[in-house]
Amino acid sequence: MEKTSFFQRLRDGLTRTRQDWTQKLETLFPAPGLGEDTFVAMEEILISADVGTRATERLLEAARRRSRSVGLSTPAELSSCLQEEVVRILTTPNATGVKHARYSSRPWVIMFVGVNGVGKTTTIGKFAAQQRQSGKKILLVAADTFRAAAIDQLEIWGDRVGVEVIKHDRGQDPSGVVFDAVQAARRRDTDLVLIDTAGRLHTKVHLLGELKKMRQVVARELPGAPHETLLVLDASTGQNALQQAKVFKESLAVTGVVLTKLDGTAKGGIVIAIQQELQLPVQYVGIGEGVDDLQPFDPDLFADALFA
Ligand code: GDP
Ligand code: MG
Repeated sequence: MEKTSFFQRLRDGLTRTRQDWTQKLETLFPAPGLGEDTFVAMEEILISADVGTRATERLLEAARRRSRSVGLSTPAELSSCLQEEVVRILTTPNATGVKHARYSSRPWVIMFVGVNGVGKTTTIGKFAAQQRQSGKKILLVAADTFRAAAIDQLEIWGDRVGVEVIKHDRGQDPSGVVFDAVQAARRRDTDLVLIDTAGRLHTKVHLLGELKKMRQVVARELPGAPHETLLVLDASTGQNALQQAKVFKESLAVTGVVLTKLDGTAKGGIVIAIQQELQLPVQYVGIGEGVDDLQPFDPDLFADALFA
């Protein structure tokens, strides 16, 4: 039931993406036996849909194969052929994410990273609300000490969800907040520690340096932690999101991606590029600002919403 309604909203959110490429793909027909210029046109459509060069190659290859074997003569046939390949891309083994079982140690620490405005704090709020509903004891950590408003924003979520927020004053070393949070989590037998981090500092090097330092502090206090480092990306920024992912992936042990703002974007194809080009598993998707607007990523549902 819940799954269905989320699917409906995901589908609604992806309307622009879906219409954009289905309409363009329809222009390739009627094509009795797709010719080489049709494939060239298809390549352009897929590239402009933000699916990335490698995924585009795979999709073209799948279409060529299908065209040779049983033929492709309608938009619907092409659609279903592409959809099957998209599911394959989205379910590659390296898209399974965290190696060990989730929440297998306690406290389980998740760091949320990403540039400013992508939706880190909102994602933490939604995630905390859902985990709380399933009975988990949670601590939120305000390690974005760069802006006072960032601390306030997390506290508002904390109040709304009914979970405690560990914070220091603005401008303090975020590693200190993280240190305190780990101690508090131990004392209180917390299940989940969710660390909110800054997305903008003076330089990229400075930001990544700070995030690395936080990781080291967490790891020193709690071997094995952070258990997950989720990179939050704004789907509506398309190729920019991919660039950000490259930078963060190189410097931090990112375990997965949360893709936000899939509602209303025409760039939903970026999901495919993130998994195919970066081998980073998309683990959650955000389709709005409400607490129910975050769900685990499901390749079949996603591909369905993208094509059906
Ligand atoms: P942060 O700087 O990364 O912490 O980003 P915020 O959590 O402050 O979010 C920035 C803006 O994006 C806020 O206005 C959020 O409400 C909005 N936002 C976050 N996730 C989503 C989403 O999935 N869909 C939409 N439409 N807006 C979102
Ligand atoms: Mg924030």
